[in-house]
Amino acid sequence: MHKPRGRISYDEYYSRQIIFKELGRRGQRRLARSTVAIVGLGGLGTVSSLYLTVAGVGRLRLIDQDTVEPDNLHRQILYGPDDLSYPKVEVSAKKLEEANPLVRVEAVPENLNEKNVERLLSGADCVVDGLDNMRTRYLINRACVRMRVPYVYGAAIGMEGNVSVFSPPETPCLECVFPGIDDAELQSCDVRGVLGATPGIIGSLQAMETVKLLARIGSTLKGRLLICDFSDMFFGTVDISKREGCPACQPTGMVSKAGEKLVWLCGRNTVNVNPNRPLRLKLSEAYETIRQDFNVRLKSRLAIIFTYKNHEISLFSDGRMLIKNVKDEESALRVQRQVLKKLGQTK
Ligand SMILES: [Zn+2]
Repeated sequence: MHKPRGRISYDEYYSRQIIFKELGRRGQRRLARSTVAIVGLGGLGTVSSLYLTVAGVGRLRLIDQDTVEPDNLHRQILYGPDDLSYPKVEVSAKKLEEANPLVRVEAVPENLNEKNVERLLSGADCVVDGLDNMRTRYLINRACVRMRVPYVYGAAIGMEGNVSVFSPPETPCLECVFPGIDDAELQSCDVRGVLGATPGIIGSLQAMETVKLLARIGSTLKGRLLICDFSDMFFGTVDISKREGCPACQPTGMVSKAGEKLVWLCGRNTVNVNPNRPLRLKLSEAYETIRQDFNVRLKSRLAIIFTYKNHEISLFSDGRMLIKNVKDEESALRVQRQVLKKLGQTK
C-alpha cells in the first residue's frame, strides 16, 4: 500500500528520535506539547526555527518586524529570491509548515517593544533569541525574568558566536553578563560582515539547547557562556554568575522604559514606525485606498508594500510601517502622517 505523497504519520516522522533512547517517546511528547517563541527570523532564527520545527516542537510563534532583503539570502536559509519584500514571518511560517505539517506555526509581524513584549511572549515555554541588537535583547531578557521563561541567547557575527541559557532565579541573566551595552558600540553585520555558516552553527546550537530544555535531557548551558571562534575552531565555555544589583534579575529596582515609537533597522536607511495605538486595518480595504494614490509593489497576506515619492513602505494591519530611504526621524513621521491620512486614520 502506498500512501498519498506528502502524508506522513507522527510515528514515521519522528521514528529516529523516538528510538533515540535519551529522548524516546516521552521526550517527543514533551516537545509536541511545547510552545516556543522565536524572536527575529534572520540568520539565527531561520536556522533554529527550522530545526525546532522538524524536531516536532508543537507550536512555534515567529516574531519579526522585517521584510526579506537581497543581502539576507546568503545566511537566512528560509528565503529565496522569490520571497524578496515579503514579511519574513509570513515566508518562514509557510516554509516551516511545509517542512513539518504536524506542527503549528504562528506568524507575528510585529515590532517587539515594551508595550507588547509580555503579550507576544505569553504562553511560551521557551524564548529563542534571533536578534541583531542589544536593545531588544534587554527587553526580552527582562520579560523572561518576570515571566520565568528560559531565554536561549545566541549571537553571531563574522566567524564568531556566543550561546547561553538564561533562566533566573536559577541562573544569571543576560544583563548580569552583558550589562549596559549600547548598540552603537557594537559591530553590526552590515559593517563587520558575516559568513553564512556562522549563524547556521549558532542557530543550530540554540535549537539543540531548546530541545534539551523542553525534553529535559542532557545538561544545558545554564550558568555557562559558550564562546566560539570558527576561524581556528576554538570552542570554550566560561562559568557566569549573578551580578550584584543587576536591575533585571534582582527583585528591587525593576525599571521600565517607555515603548519606542521609532526604531532604525540594522544598517539600512529604514525605520520602523509604530502607530500611537495599534490600528485594526483590513488589508483588503486598505489596499483599495492605497492603490488609488500609491504604486503598489505587492500585497501579501500580512502586508502591503508600496512606493510613495522615493520611499518604499511596508504597511501592516496594526498600522505599523517600515519606511525605506528616509534620512531622519522627522521625514519618517511626516510620511507616516500622510499615509495614515490617506487611510482615513487621524492620529
Ligand atoms: Zn541579572
